[in-house]
Amino acid sequence: MLIKKGIPVSPGVAISRAIVLDAEDQPIPRRVVAPDQLEKELERLDAALDHSGKDLEQIKQHATSKIGAEHAKIFAFHLGLLNDQHLIGQFRQMIRDEQVSAEYAVYTVMRQLARVFKDQANRYFSERVSDIWDIERRIMGHLIGQTRADLAQLKHQAVVIAHDLTPSQTASFDREKVRALATDAGGRTSHTAILAHALSIPAIVGLEDITADVTTGDTVIIDGNRGLVIIEPDAAKLLEYRLERRRVAEFESSLDQLIHLPAQTKDGTDISLMGNIEFPSEIQTALQKGAQGIGLYRTEFLYLASETEPTEEEQFEAYKEAIHELNGLPITIRTLDLGADKVAPSDLIDQTERNSFLGCRSIRLCLQNLPLFKRQLCAIIRASADGPIRIMFPMISNIMELRQAKMILSDVMEDLQDQGIPFQENIPIGMMIEVPSAAIQAAALSKEVDFFSIGTNDLIQYTLAVDRGNERIASLYSGGHPAVLQLIQGVIRAGQRAKIEVSLCGEMGGQPEFVMLLLGLGLTSLSITPPAIPEVKQILRSVSIDQCKRVARKAMSFDTDREVMNYLKNEVHKACPEVFGGRSMGF
Ligand code: PEP
Ligand code: MG
Repeated sequence: MLIKKGIPVSPGVAISRAIVLDAEDQPIPRRVVAPDQLEKELERLDAALDHSGKDLEQIKQHATSKIGAEHAKIFAFHLGLLNDQHLIGQFRQMIRDEQVSAEYAVYTVMRQLARVFKDQANRYFSERVSDIWDIERRIMGHLIGQTRADLAQLKHQAVVIAHDLTPSQTASFDREKVRALATDAGGRTSHTAILAHALSIPAIVGLEDITADVTTGDTVIIDGNRGLVIIEPDAAKLLEYRLERRRVAEFESSLDQLIHLPAQTKDGTDISLMGNIEFPSEIQTALQKGAQGIGLYRTEFLYLASETEPTEEEQFEAYKEAIHELNGLPITIRTLDLGADKVAPSDLIDQTERNSFLGCRSIRLCLQNLPLFKRQLCAIIRASADGPIRIMFPMISNIMELRQAKMILSDVMEDLQDQGIPFQENIPIGMMIEVPSAAIQAAALSKEVDFFSIGTNDLIQYTLAVDRGNERIASLYSGGHPAVLQLIQGVIRAGQRAKIEVSLCGEMGGQPEFVMLLLGLGLTSLSITPPAIPEVKQILRSVSIDQCKRVARKAMSFDTDREVMNYLKNEVHKACPEVFGGRSMGF
């Protein structure tokens, strides 16, 4: 039995067999193959080599027609290597002699080959190293592609172990089959983590080398409350966790009784509790958890889930579906926030962006691609004829961007009006505050919008210069950092002075330890991941606003995030012991 600790990002306990998903560009773990499976492994290798060869022939033909036969000779090295019987013999020998997977054999042999080429004094040879990586990735893509296809059609329930998962991979999981996730990489607010939580799949990220410790077929326990992965548990651990699973289920069903009770503090202050969604299909669950509407619809996920750019009609249908599901309840539709870790399969985004989190992403990408932006705005505005919506712009970092976005929006509205297409009048326009410059300039910005929504996931990342998805610096990523708290406080005050609504839609709003602080700072509206709604409601129903103000005042007096977090956890625990009774302090 081996126990590993990572970052818990979605609560719950799962006990199941593991399936290890290998990743491109990452060390491939040594996986032993049973002797009776070796022939099958060799067949997989042959199929991957065959497919890779066909790919290259096709690319070569395409290149010949585009750039001429002379230049297309650059593929001669690739094709020569793929047909090199000595190299293929090395792959096969390793699989047979060492009884390892085809992926591991290809990975090891190609790495040795690259090293030999790299050490050559002759430039022609040393420059071939990138070609070797290219071929390795191509073969690996076919080998892994097969694993991924298998994953989409899983016959049994399984826990998915991977180096990292893209948000679109996570979104495509069959929830009935994928019982939990555990990854080497990732941080608390990486989009994969957010999605896993939204889908109620227990998940742990930032385990660093879990893919090397687990082999497909191992029994694993995922304790998403404490961030523990238990590999090949003994009988006592299994029993302990079967009991734990029952206890968590009982706690959750006790919370479900709160769903129809008002989201109101002890002194009678109404708090608006909205849900965050990525797809319209999540709305029913959000409503079942007690959401009063949708405060953040991450529309870019429609792009992540499709191979090509969705048409205006497809976007219109998705927004209409969301509005109908809500049956008159409000929805805040955020315009495309593509980029950074949310990369669409279509080539909208420059994949070579040097620093993607600071690059041409989100509203910047939209403002540089007006037809794309206008198509989305058109779809949103047309859908507004069916129910109450609000529009929100992401990642605004200066006033000119906001003004430009609003101008384009009014152009689109004018065009629709000219065509006699109906839409909602006076659609409230808001913006995310998720970049420090916007938080600092909140007073000026508040004069130009109807509402603010504080995106703490990015605000923390950009304020503290800590990548939200990097497990190595996850301990530095803290919503309790005094600098972050000061920015949040400033934004709420600016909104109050301008008499506009201020809400918060980052993951912080769904974390129990922050609820009293945020109410105490003056927020009366939160938009959170739907599974967290009952727990947050339980806390706010147990406290008064005066009590929260006292907590906020004290929390703002500390100099370190550690003091802030310890203090907040204690206060929430005192006010509402049931919340932490059901789970660890991680959630
Ligand atoms: C945020 O940054 O807090 C936010 C809600 O947006 P996203 O997580 O999609 O970046
Ligand atoms: Mg954001």
